[in-house]
Amino acid sequence: MKASAGGYARASSLRNALEMLAASDGNGRVLAGGQSLVAALNLRLSAGDVLIDISRLSELSGVTETQDGLRIGALTSHAEIGCNPLIRQSAPLLSQAVEFIAHAAIRNRGTIGGALAHADPAAEFPACVLALGATLHVEGLNGSRDIPVEDFFQDIFETAIEEGEILTGLSVPKAEPGEKQVIVEVARRSGDYALAGVCLVKRADGHRLSLFSVGPKPILAEGAMVALDQGNIDGAVQALQAEIDPPSDTQASAAYRRHLAGVLLRRAAARIEGGNA
Ligand SMILES: Cc1cc2nc3c(=O)[nH]c(=O)nc-3n(C[C@H](O)[C@H](O)[C@H](O)COP(=O)(O)OP(=O)(O)OC[C@H]3O[C@@H](n4cnc5c(N)ncnc54)[C@H](O)[C@@H]3O)c2cc1C
Repeated sequence: MKASAGGYARASSLRNALEMLAASDGNGRVLAGGQSLVAALNLRLSAGDVLIDISRLSELSGVTETQDGLRIGALTSHAEIGCNPLIRQSAPLLSQAVEFIAHAAIRNRGTIGGALAHADPAAEFPACVLALGATLHVEGLNGSRDIPVEDFFQDIFETAIEEGEILTGLSVPKAEPGEKQVIVEVARRSGDYALAGVCLVKRADGHRLSLFSVGPKPILAEGAMVALDQGNIDGAVQALQAEIDPPSDTQASAAYRRHLAGVLLRRAAARIEGGNA
């Protein structure tokens, strides 16, 4: 089936993209890598959108080092996240995650900003940035906002980005010396969306644990984090299984996803404690 878009325009600058978005009467849709949006248009899950193509805005791409972290442009591709030396050294959770995302062609076109704005509850990057404690940067014609990741993901495919705003990038803290970061998931086939997944970060001041594909949005498992800080893995698994409410669908039942979440937490913790993270 052919895509059903209501129009297309390529933005020449971020300002130009924001102006076109404002002029589109609510029908404007930002097009980044197109790996989710074009599929939705082809399937007629979305129709009549005026596509505002930001994919060539170099100002939204790339990774830079800041005083206390990394700033990652929204248009940085999954492939670049996977091989960028700054990310591999200072936010290895993100580069590890790329190995689980789809296939090479999709990783070459898909962008981290697109994945975060799309907010698929089964996607890896939203859970990674939640575990890392990132800050999301958005810009509109009236100025910019910084959104703590805990406030960013609101519901299935819903974020705190408001109409007329574009996600310009994100900041993540640099891993401290000795910090461990690990992502583990179970999918039916390599490259498929996960049935369940876990991101675990261990810092000097404690653990951060997030999950994906076990609810309508990525979840920070705060009860399990407390138990992990106390070195109580059985308590952490119990707390985790109590604080998620996974869906049943054609891929897996809620009970199986809840069981997987516990298994994956044990695997992630073992990798961290075994020095394999
Ligand atoms: C076959 C297949 C398998 C896949 N498997 C996985 C997988 O296993 N794991 C995974 O995580 N993902 C997977 N994906 C999704 C892929 O990672 C997408 O690239 C990503 O979700 C969207 O990024 P994009 O740049 O292509 O965004 P687009 O498709 O261009 O946009 C997606 C949505 O985000 C909005 N948007 C994009 N950029 C911005 C911005 N800067 N500001 C505001 N809004 C914006 C768009 O308007 C649109 O609503 C898969 C996709 C396909 C087609």
